Amino acid sequence: MPPQIVVLGAGYAGTAAIRSLENELEHPDLVWVSKEPHHFVLHEAHRCIRDPSICDKLTIPIEDIKSDHTRFVRGTVTGIETEARDVIIDGDHTIGYDYLIIAIGSQTAFFGIEGLEAHALTLKSPDDARSIHDQITNAAKDATRDEPAQIVIGGAGLTGIQTAGEIAAWRDEMSAPVEIHLVEMEAHIFPGHDPEFQGSLRKKLEAANVTVHTGATCIAVDERTMQFEEVDDLDYDVLVWAGGVTGQDALSDTTIETNHSRANASSTFETSADRVYAIGDAAFVHPKIEENVFDEQTVWQRIVNPDTENVPPPTAEAAIEAGKQIGNNIARVRSGSEPVDWAYINKGTLVSVGDEVVAHNVIGVPMNTFSGPAARTLKRAVSARWITSISSPKRALTAWNDM
Ligand SMILES: Cc1cc2nc3c(=O)[nH]c(=O)nc-3n(C[C@H](O)[C@H](O)[C@H](O)COP(=O)(O)OP(=O)(O)OC[C@H]3O[C@@H](n4cnc5c(N)ncnc54)[C@H](O)[C@@H]3O)c2cc1C
Repeated sequence: MPPQIVVLGAGYAGTAAIRSLENELEHPDLVWVSKEPHHFVLHEAHRCIRDPSICDKLTIPIEDIKSDHTRFVRGTVTGIETEARDVIIDGDHTIGYDYLIIAIGSQTAFFGIEGLEAHALTLKSPDDARSIHDQITNAAKDATRDEPAQIVIGGAGLTGIQTAGEIAAWRDEMSAPVEIHLVEMEAHIFPGHDPEFQGSLRKKLEAANVTVHTGATCIAVDERTMQFEEVDDLDYDVLVWAGGVTGQDALSDTTIETNHSRANASSTFETSADRVYAIGDAAFVHPKIEENVFDEQTVWQRIVNPDTENVPPPTAEAAIEAGKQIGNNIARVRSGSEPVDWAYINKGTLVSVGDEVVAHNVIGVPMNTFSGPAARTLKRAVSARWITSISSPKRALTAWNDM
């Protein structure tokens, strides 16, 4: 009997892991567990705010991805018993494993800010995108040109910038009476990235009539108002929080060593528990370097600044690359060879602001930062390549105009 390999999560990391395990192992015994019976192309989720019908084009059924031999179990992981080698599903039943790959992604971090979790919308699923669409639509119905609805987005990272850009595009298409505010506690949007890149993104946002507030640290939220440490309060009708991510609760109660509920993993994805590996947003994959000091500040700096350090950032690209490598590493371990050290190589960053895209540090392109049709086509091509690699070119083509 081959050992049972269990993969948790059907995001980028879990999906890439299943594909690489199916390719690398002969007749593997694979069990794939996830909350939903589909993969969702999360890095394009903001597009669904403008037009929720796009959600369907970005949702790929598990059956279209996995081979017939891989078993899929729909369920929520609520715990992991590393001694017994069991995964607890929905709190009431278990699945045993010989090898376990944790790829359950991240959840929104609220940093203990008073009232924030209760009042803010988040963007981590198709349903979240639909809720944002519905709430901004309702807010616009009650608003007038003289008293426009106030939409506030907290956090100017990948999610916040792209959400603000998409809401601005929706406002223009619908001629909706809304004002959009993007709030960031750091001095610049897209903190930790290259100043030219930050400047270009800010210009695009301002050209799209998004008011950008930097140096504004949110300290409390109630049902109408967001309060800041340094600047005046902002009243809102709809508040979307995109201020950061942390690990999933399911990992907080295990014996696996974690950092903010993300599993600490070596450069070969091994965690502190025997035969348990972690990849994607669910993991802190520590690169193999000497004098490795990972205090909280260093880790955070490295997450927000993928250009300067080699701890993989919480991005789809890093999750996919780790997922592709894990199959090979498990195959090596099973055949008695040493697993290969993995290091993240940033091939470039692409950020949309509505229909515009800003590209930065793209490998093979002589310009540092650029936008225009080439950047837009590149972003579409990256998403289309991913969809094609896990399902079909036809599916990628269907979503092409909406990415
Ligand atoms: C709006 C938005 C825009 C983004 N834009 C970009 C971008 O342009 N470029 C980029 O590289 N990255 C982008 N990102 C970040 C990127 O989407 C994440 O880094 C990426 O999704 C991480 O992949 P993952 O596989 O680790 O986790 P996820 O994609 O989050 O997948 C986690 C999976 O685990 C499942 N799951 C979660 N908890 C459990 C549980 N307890 N039990 C069972 N299953 C569970 C989920 O249902 C899901 O299938 C964006 C994110 C958002 C939200």
